[in-house]
Amino acid sequence: SPHRPGPHSGYGPGELLALDRAHVWHPYGPMPGRTDPLIVESASGVRLRLAEPVHGQRELIDGMSSWWSAIHGYNHPVLNEAAHGQLERMSHVMFGGLTHEPAVRLATRLVEITPEPLRHVFLCDSGSVSVEVAVKMCLQYWRSVGRPAKQRLLTWRGGYHGDTWQPMSVCDPEGGMHELWSGVLPRQIFAEAPPAEFDESYAADLRDLVARHADELAAVIVEPVVQGAGGMRFHSPGYLRVLRAACDEHGVLLIFDEIATGFGRTGALFAAELAGVSPDVMCLGKALTGGYLTMAATLCTSRVAEGISLGEVPVLAHGPTFMGNPLASAVACASIDLLLGQDWQQEVKRLEAGLREGLAEAEGLPGVKDVRVLGAIGVVQLDHEVDMAAATEAAVRAGVWLRPFRDLVYTMPPYVTGDGDLARVCRAVCAAVRAG
Ligand code: PMP
Repeated sequence: SPHRPGPHSGYGPGELLALDRAHVWHPYGPMPGRTDPLIVESASGVRLRLAEPVHGQRELIDGMSSWWSAIHGYNHPVLNEAAHGQLERMSHVMFGGLTHEPAVRLATRLVEITPEPLRHVFLCDSGSVSVEVAVKMCLQYWRSVGRPAKQRLLTWRGGYHGDTWQPMSVCDPEGGMHELWSGVLPRQIFAEAPPAEFDESYAADLRDLVARHADELAAVIVEPVVQGAGGMRFHSPGYLRVLRAACDEHGVLLIFDEIATGFGRTGALFAAELAGVSPDVMCLGKALTGGYLTMAATLCTSRVAEGISLGEVPVLAHGPTFMGNPLASAVACASIDLLLGQDWQQEVKRLEAGLREGLAEAEGLPGVKDVRVLGAIGVVQLDHEVDMAAATEAAVRAGVWLRPFRDLVYTMPPYVTGDGDLARVCRAVCAAVRAG
């Protein structure tokens, strides 16, 4: 078996779960002890191996790529080797006053593969922080060039940009994950969520909103083409062209959050390419290291960097301890080379075709409102809130790990998922829809 249990603490599954319940917070979890996670012992290829069988399954196909990140699957020899090799040289050194080959190579590679005007790279440690940095860059740019009133952000509803303060302020304010804080978060400007198809009157409203608020707007921030955790909605790339033109016309910066969409997930290397426009600032994360290590990046143009340098405080005051982490940088370089060294577009097309075929069955199921596929993303939207526990259990019974939420059952499998496994993922999605 490719799964090799490592040295472990000697705790059995029951004890582990008891200690988890006693002490460990989980994402969006109630206090420790109120969730019942499955214990993963190891992961290899597209499979998670559980510590003990659950609903008859010891191994689950990962239909989530660990939240968009594990594009090459787990325990990949090339990524393992990059990590091991770098580990023997140095796992981490501070980035203040020091630099090193893995970070320089990664930054250079990111500039090469992202849209043309992006030139400077801030390497940080999570997607949310990369959005914080993007926002700080834009706010500081306008202060530095003598327009200190331009400090607000415009976005559209239905978005999700992370769980720290500024990103929370541009997540969907209604029924979203951060509604609790709506009274105290910075007040941003919201357009309606973008319709799937290009709609001229919606586009006109967008243009109008940018024009009307231009004097106070630092930037527009959006997830291009796919709104992820805020509702798994797809929209016409045409809106990105509308935003680019409106931002140019009215002197507003444009941030693309490609943390979920980056590295091929939509069928383009970056979703910005689907629209043929470039942002002033771009956030990357998740699949950056193939899901191996925690790292994200904020890229900006020379204009933004030079603007900041004109300010009274000419530095970007941000410097996380683990900035430029060499281990993560080395694995990110290997992951990018691995992706671009193969016909990845063909692989994503194969997954897109497989998802279309496999999820067609969901269209006829009761309670299904919409089925949509783009690149290696498959979404079934229900006309009701999904019963998360029942839907998850049904997927696990079918041998697949999914994480249904709100009115959605969806999958974004690793690109290395074979046709047979993909068919199984689709059957599990349908099973989850039936159960939920
Ligand atoms: N932006 C987008 C579009 C995301 O999907 C996410 C993660 N779900 C984030 C930002 C936040 O990234 P992280 O969880 O790494 O902080």
